[in-house]
Amino acid sequence: MSPAEETAKLLASLGVRTEGSLVSQSPIDGAAIGSVAEATNGEVEQACLVAAEAFVQWRTVPAPRRGELIRLLGEELRNAKESLARLVTLEAGKIVQEGLGEVQEMIDICDYAVGLSRQLYGLTIASERADHRMMEQWHPLGVVGVITAFNFPVAVWAWNAALAVVCGNPVIWKPSEKTPLVAAAVMALAKRALDRFGHAPQGLLQCLQGGREVGEALVDDTRVALVSATGSTAMGRVVGPRVAQRFGRSLLELGGNNAMIVGPSADLKLAERAVLFSAAGTAGQRCTTLRRLIVHESIADEFVARLKTLFAGIRVGDPREETTLVGPLIDEAAFRAMNEAMDGKAERIEVEGDGYYVRPAIVEVDAQRGMVLKETFAPILYVLRYWELDEAIALNNGVVQGLSSSIFTNDLREAERFLSAAGSDCGIANVNIGPSGAEIGGAFGGEKETGGGRESGSDSWRAYMRRATNTINYGTELPLAQGIKFDV
Ligand code: NAD
Repeated sequence: MSPAEETAKLLASLGVRTEGSLVSQSPIDGAAIGSVAEATNGEVEQACLVAAEAFVQWRTVPAPRRGELIRLLGEELRNAKESLARLVTLEAGKIVQEGLGEVQEMIDICDYAVGLSRQLYGLTIASERADHRMMEQWHPLGVVGVITAFNFPVAVWAWNAALAVVCGNPVIWKPSEKTPLVAAAVMALAKRALDRFGHAPQGLLQCLQGGREVGEALVDDTRVALVSATGSTAMGRVVGPRVAQRFGRSLLELGGNNAMIVGPSADLKLAERAVLFSAAGTAGQRCTTLRRLIVHESIADEFVARLKTLFAGIRVGDPREETTLVGPLIDEAAFRAMNEAMDGKAERIEVEGDGYYVRPAIVEVDAQRGMVLKETFAPILYVLRYWELDEAIALNNGVVQGLSSSIFTNDLREAERFLSAAGSDCGIANVNIGPSGAEIGGAFGGEKETGGGRESGSDSWRAYMRRATNTINYGTELPLAQGIKFDV
């Protein structure tokens, strides 16, 4: 079946009707697979209005009740896991396993958020004054705008929406213009959950389809309390200051340029598998993709030779086939970027129609400069060599991005040094696993030009709430802080 036929069938089975000016093309063969209507300025305005009204109701619903809605959403996602994953494959080009993994991540964050809905804890704080009590509370924040990238077309919405909703906030989603259909499918599942829940306010979960302009309208609307934006650093450079100018909050999840250090004591069997998955997986189109391999000189020749053999044998092809490890790049522009970065040496593989399939590349370089410093969203692995660990850590940190990093070593001192304050400067630092493929339990995000935001687990939920510090006097005096006397 062609991607277009299969997509139409899946969308129909989920009750999604698609029609409009925004056409989606499958990276599998480059053919159009459906279309959606783009939101007009008026519709953005209306969505913000309705969401602001929904907030007034939703913020007073007890958090565990809000969690019930997310529990139902998780059920809908579980039931539709295969279909939704298939749509991810058809529209974003992910291989079957990664499509399923993406939907599993949505289910995981729903489960997490349900538990979290009973744990939105504040602190109690010792007061310096007699008969006083201090505490902090976390209150719902307001409308949350979620802008997402093509490469995690649905999971990133779930990371944000599941937490935002249990935290008491309505969500307006602006999905990538490259993956509008799978977003429409998610909204159909969300509607089922909302219908079953029965009494959520209208406009709690909305979606505005379209490109950059729709995103910008959302970014500029003062009713949107938090803009959570995932995408390129170029996008974040525009969005961050625009939101800040109106004193809104932003949570930025931007580009990465992730490294792996392979030390002399490393288990090379483990390391090579990790390199394969994190450098070539998702056709190099993950924010956490391994882009720089920093190998100890003493093992470099052998290890790199082994990797070259493995890369030459990677099965590149139609992502719908179970045996494929690397599917297509998202579009022609992605191929052009890869080819330019490689001085015209990117190896294109003919698979189907106008799909852009490439052989993942290994490029050995003698210094970290030029294209090595940039995030090219394609499977290019640069290899650098080192003698001293400090040199390797300096290379790891010597780029403007700060998302993910890892070290392969069996030397405890090396591992701990890499994880220490003087080690990796990234938001994610791993030992004996690659830089990609995070679990939802930890906080996800990066430093420097990756934007500083944290999503998903740990205490990331706080980004979706506002903190109120409360001091309560239960005595009969009015003592002032710092011992100030102000008697009349
Ligand atoms: P992109 O920046 O082109 O687009 C991302 C989203 O931002 C899209 O929905 C787009 O319409 C919107 N957008 C673009 N300009 C905007 C503007 N000025 N105002 C408002 N919205 C705007 O990114 P992409 O090509 O879809 O995705 C790839 C990039 O995303 C890579 O750089 C990758 O590293 C990054 N990414 C980061 C993370 C992370 O968590 N750090 C996760 C996934 C992807």
